[in-house]
Amino acid sequence: MELITKPQSYDLCFSIASLVLVLVTLLIHVSEEKYFSRQRYIFGAIVLNALLVNLFGITHLLYLYSDVVRDFLGPAGNRYAVISEKIFTYLIPYCSILYVMSIFQIEPDNLRKKAYLVIPTAYAVLAFALGFFGDFFFTFNERGNLKFFYPHGATVNIGVWLYLIFAFYLYIKYTRTLSSEKAVALWIYFFLMLGAIPIRIITKSSAIFEFSLSISLLLCVYTFQNPSEFVDKLSGAGTRNALNFTITTNLLQKKEFTLFGIHINRFSVILGSESPETSADLKLQISKYLQQYCHDGNLFFPDNDEYILLFSGVTPDESVITRTEDQIRKRFKEPWRVRGGEVKLFESPYAIGFPDEVDTIERYGEVMGVIEKALTRQNREILRVSDLNMKVVEHDKKIDGIVKHALEDKLFEVYYQPIYSPETGKFSSCEALLRLKDPQLGFISPAIFMPIAERNGTILSIDRFVLASVCEMISTSEARKYGLEYVEVNLSVVDCIQTNLAENVINTLNKYNVDTSEINLEITETSEQGITSVMYENINKLTECGLSFSMDDFGTGYSNIARISNMPVKIFKLDKSIIQSAFDSEVSYMVMLNLIKIIKSLNKEIVAEGVETGEQARQIIKLGCDHIQGFFYARPMPKDNFIEFLRDHNG
Ligand code: C2E
Ligand code: CA
Ligand code: CA
Repeated sequence: MELITKPQSYDLCFSIASLVLVLVTLLIHVSEEKYFSRQRYIFGAIVLNALLVNLFGITHLLYLYSDVVRDFLGPAGNRYAVISEKIFTYLIPYCSILYVMSIFQIEPDNLRKKAYLVIPTAYAVLAFALGFFGDFFFTFNERGNLKFFYPHGATVNIGVWLYLIFAFYLYIKYTRTLSSEKAVALWIYFFLMLGAIPIRIITKSSAIFEFSLSISLLLCVYTFQNPSEFVDKLSGAGTRNALNFTITTNLLQKKEFTLFGIHINRFSVILGSESPETSADLKLQISKYLQQYCHDGNLFFPDNDEYILLFSGVTPDESVITRTEDQIRKRFKEPWRVRGGEVKLFESPYAIGFPDEVDTIERYGEVMGVIEKALTRQNREILRVSDLNMKVVEHDKKIDGIVKHALEDKLFEVYYQPIYSPETGKFSSCEALLRLKDPQLGFISPAIFMPIAERNGTILSIDRFVLASVCEMISTSEARKYGLEYVEVNLSVVDCIQTNLAENVINTLNKYNVDTSEINLEITETSEQGITSVMYENINKLTECGLSFSMDDFGTGYSNIARISNMPVKIFKLDKSIIQSAFDSEVSYMVMLNLIKIIKSLNKEIVAEGVETGEQARQIIKLGCDHIQGFFYARPMPKDNFIEFLRDHNG
């Protein structure tokens, strides 16, 4: 009761309140599991410091106001408490500077800079510790309060002010790299710290100082130490914000560094189609693995397709880059084990040297655009900025624009390539292949525009357009009459992982009165894309409805035969590269023979693709392929020509 009614005990209330605040801050701080590196430890040190300042401050206040404590501690106990409080108080500006430096990633990298940092605090702390034994700087009055001797006592404070001025200087210099929220937080932090010191001197009460310190720390925990903006919760790696921030601050300091990127092919597709737990596991596993190659806080996961390692003081030519890449490549040859399953991932590395190759954050964005495009193919070597062809970028940009409007502008047309069935001597199926004709550029190959459509998201509406055109062709032309049994329609991976795929397909078929047996969907099992649960679900749903599937491009890339053989598909399409090389060399011929054997042993139908000569056709028929597709029989052609073709050859 006495505590509340006595004005001098407000001090104590303040002290207790700030103690509570610091404890809360400490709790928040330690409960965060993954963090943005060194900054975190320094912040921890500040909070701990603040806690000690508070505890010793309260001890001193209790000594002043409570007889029980006074008797218990005695003047010596009080002295210890006050001096300890002081020492920790003087350590705080030092930690604050370290903290600000770690936020801006400024290294005290030489002895002189280290000396600048250590000496002022060391002086203050030493002066206090020594002053305890002599009366040179300060003494204690009868009540147990501290009294400074001037002017020498005041020198103790100079270091602290120097620190705060230095912090301001850093702050002003780097402030444009901060988000406005953070800039405000830092302003308040310094305002409170700067304000607290004169208040402390005038009121001779440390309670207000402690209080504003606690508030500042709480503020920091929610802005600078708030990990969601800077740390990807699932992987523990830095976010895009963190990466951009790091690049900008490093460039500002004219530091030399290399960003070493590990692009994981179609990683976002894989992550998106796995269960949330599995993809979180996978992300974490990879970042833990990569973390060993770089310092804390130098690993980033800026988007879902790549990890980036930052090497400071290193150019892309240095051996540390190639050495790291060798190791990482080896690891990626092995599958990643997650939740009882295995995922095989394929990485393409690249390296960008700052500031030699890229010297602004804007330029970085542009270069990344080019790199992403150049990375769509698996790279054996580390892709370098000097390897990039900037003309290709411009061209790609142009096609990207065309693709985005091609549906509206009616630039797409579906072509049909007849497929021959030797057993009946008829063309009973065909593959729908999309053509894009731009008024200026002419025909653009699907091999070029399809990857772009997959990246810019138009692929979904494009594939819906193809399916609708195919259904329309079946239902409105005389194709059925001329012996067309079914049409093969390509599905992009992006389609395959859509949860409403089955529904969309069935709706389209119903709309045109096309039977499910008249459509066969072609899917690919490219190296990097595991067959995921959503994909399985889609295939099963559609199979139940009566559609069938082909495994396209079989024999390319890294097909895992064991896994593929379990796929619920009816047809395997031997890739044209297999067929074509088979007629170039003995070994390739054996490869083709074995692939055919495998497919036959699985009781699946075979389509041989890319048959260009009569000789090839004869051989392949002899080997027992069920269907043949290739320029030898017919090229892809517009709808009307295709109907005519059927009439002439099947009629
Ligand atoms: P794909 O599914 O492997 O299609 C077969 C490709 O081989 C077609 O190329 C076809 O024109 C070509 N081809 C057929 N016979 C021969 C031959 O005897 N010799 C040679 N050298 N090539 C032959 P195209 O039309 O350029 O298509 C390229 C790829 O684009 C397709 O590969 C497919 O992955 C994709 N694509 C085409 N249309 C569509 C579509 O409507 N939707 C989706 N998602 N992808 C499509
Ligand atoms: Ca195909
Ligand atoms: Ca193919």
